[in-house]
Amino acid sequence: MKRPFVTLEQLKEITKTYPTPFHIYDEKGIRENARLLKQAFSWNPGFKEYFAVKAEPNPYIMQILKEEGCGADCSSMTELMLSEAVGLVGSDIMFSSNDTPAGEFTKAKELGAYINLDDYTMIDFIEQECGVPETICCRYNPGGVYTVSNGIMDNPGDAKYGMTKEQMIDAYKRLKELGAKHFGIHSFLVSNTVTNDYYPMLARTLFELAVELKEKTGVHIRFINLSGGVGIPYKPDQKGNDILVIGEGVRKAYEEILVPAGMGDVAIFTELGRFMLAPYGHLVTRAIHEKHIYKEYIGVDACAVNLMRPAMYGAYHHITVMGKENEPCDHKYDVTGSLCENNDKFAIDRMLPKVDMGDLLVIHDTGAHGFAMGYNYNGKLKSAELLLREDGTTKLIRRAETPADYFATLDFSEFFRK
Ligand SMILES: *Cc1c(COP(=O)(O)O)cnc(C)c1O
Repeated sequence: MKRPFVTLEQLKEITKTYPTPFHIYDEKGIRENARLLKQAFSWNPGFKEYFAVKAEPNPYIMQILKEEGCGADCSSMTELMLSEAVGLVGSDIMFSSNDTPAGEFTKAKELGAYINLDDYTMIDFIEQECGVPETICCRYNPGGVYTVSNGIMDNPGDAKYGMTKEQMIDAYKRLKELGAKHFGIHSFLVSNTVTNDYYPMLARTLFELAVELKEKTGVHIRFINLSGGVGIPYKPDQKGNDILVIGEGVRKAYEEILVPAGMGDVAIFTELGRFMLAPYGHLVTRAIHEKHIYKEYIGVDACAVNLMRPAMYGAYHHITVMGKENEPCDHKYDVTGSLCENNDKFAIDRMLPKVDMGDLLVIHDTGAHGFAMGYNYNGKLKSAELLLREDGTTKLIRRAETPADYFATLDFSEFFRK
């Protein structure tokens, strides 16, 4: 059973100031979870989580995570700028981009970020643009199909990211010639894994690669970045990951593979987005219309612009009809937004308590890859973002867009010039 982190009474109060729809984030949950992650990897002296900024690019959230010891994982110019604004610079930034546009490596290098090269050809690209930094990381793609114990798998062989093993070996040799002194290894093979086995398995793969790279190229491996991919249980019957068990699993692999190879000084990095934030965000929306045709529809005031995952991946997001938590789920609805797009549905054939017009609905687990994926189709405006602080008060951390924001990029034209 998924329970919201806000009560109906709190939401009634909040909606007096901030109209629906909005995303709200739970500071307490974010902090507690970040501390648990830190605890899980406390056996590794160099451990650091670089929060994947793309998951929720809000400086107030990044600030909270910074206070909990996290850095930032960036992959674009504006994400670098955001990190800089929050005071995350130097080794607090991991720059894991791909198909990198000109100028971004320069910015990352100026900030002192750890730069992660997605491809062998990026070596010449960065060398020509700004020179290879002293510490550099390369992204690995083992190819084939990657299966984790419970069958969760992905297809790295079809993914655009990373280098083959042969390219990794060549890359470290070449980077060494170009003056690099310390090296990292990065890989991201499976998204949203709901199993305690993914990170330990990936760690084994990367630790073995690290030993081989050291033997074949003689480089010093400073860190191994397990990247993102630790998932969350979106469905109420799913069991979540136990990050302490995951941390222990990685430790076991570390002690079996790296320590005997004389590599017991390697730091473990993570680049989690979803795990850090998804459960600690809700999209709050109001039922504004009902429609009875071949199916029963509830129209809400949010739409896919506020949360794209159901439309894009058919993703499940749990819905709580506030104040009706204990009523029987005896009505079958499609819960829809207002886009002129038939995939604009937050839920299809979902059993819910009877929804009345004006009811507040909490859509769960929108803290990561939620607001962040927003767009402006149909001229829909992006919502506000609120922070539920630990003392129970609410803080606006992003205002809602206005039509003026929507038309801002036409401000040069005769139609919208001020
Ligand atoms: C998206 C992304 C992440 C975060 O992934 P999650 O699934 O949110 O943990 C980390 N690193 C890179 C390079 C990514 O692209």
